[in-house]
Amino acid sequence: MQNIFKFNFYRRSPKLLLTLTLSIVLALLPLVTPALASGTAEPTSHDIRPRYGVRDIGWLSDYHSGLRNTPGDTRVYQMSGDKQGGAVLILGGTHPNEVASVLAAVLLVENAKVSAGTVFVIPHANNSASSYTDPRHDVPEWLEFETESGTRTFRYGARYTNPEHQEKDPKRFKHYPSGFEFKGKESRNLNRVHPGKKDGTLTQQISFALFQLVEKESVDVVIDMHEASPGWRLANSLICHPDALEIGSMAKMDMEMEGTDIKLEQSQPADKFHGLSHREFGDNTDAYAFLIESINPGQGDVSGDVKIINNPEHPLKDRVKFQLSTIQYILSSYNIMAADQAKKIEIQLNVDLANLKGSGLSRILR
Ligand SMILES: [Zn+2]
Repeated sequence: MQNIFKFNFYRRSPKLLLTLTLSIVLALLPLVTPALASGTAEPTSHDIRPRYGVRDIGWLSDYHSGLRNTPGDTRVYQMSGDKQGGAVLILGGTHPNEVASVLAAVLLVENAKVSAGTVFVIPHANNSASSYTDPRHDVPEWLEFETESGTRTFRYGARYTNPEHQEKDPKRFKHYPSGFEFKGKESRNLNRVHPGKKDGTLTQQISFALFQLVEKESVDVVIDMHEASPGWRLANSLICHPDALEIGSMAKMDMEMEGTDIKLEQSQPADKFHGLSHREFGDNTDAYAFLIESINPGQGDVSGDVKIINNPEHPLKDRVKFQLSTIQYILSSYNIMAADQAKKIEIQLNVDLANLKGSGLSRILR
């Protein structure tokens, strides 16, 4: 009996173990599956090395607790000067595949010094969209730079919120609150859902939190950085809310006197289009709202190796330079034209933009 028992036990135990393991896995599946479906609760983190002048690093969820513990949460870098003044919110990565917007924001956090006012920088405005690279586009997943401190990598994200982080796209997406209709996938496009919704989708809540920040911090100027494909009408443009058009016109004139061509556009009328940052921040807050578009050869019909960083026609360093200098010109025009002189905003970039062409980004990333 004993022998038989021993024999059976040893022979059957692997099966028993397998059965037990399977049972445990199956029992745990319901606990694991929802977490996978909604993605990790941890927002994607990025290699950003703030300069000494950064006074505070917070979270976007500090302005809307509904974002906490979601992949839509993201870092908010705050720099302030010794002189009091106004406040500007600068957004990179609303569309994280528009990489010059992300890199320009990173360079601000790593190099800029603010002498007057307060500067809020969010390099990954839609952090969920920066958690993956759209497989339909022939672009690298990571951008690599050899810097003095070693290799630094930046994610080449996607245009849309990660589909794993939001409920299935509706057939048609109805913009809130206007009811204006878009294709369903635009429900995951941060630049179609503004001004957001407190209890809405993840993308709407990211937008809602940005609007809360603008209100709570009394932000005077909002600048949303984007890129467009080389053939797109808006490539190399500054788009202004009607209330910000005079400031934008002055910035354009100053840029052209310095030899930089930039197109100027006004937001489409509110009854024609909805959800865009320059229109909605201008309509729904007291801020002057702008959107900058540089040219990204990695957008549009991309085939083969487009050389995102060292593209001969549109190298990344030129696109970053375009973004940062446009920001400088917007702020200097704002300083001159904004009625209240106590609301000035002054940023020193500590980056030799004129000579960026020769040195590339590697030398200025920390
Ligand atoms: Zn964009």
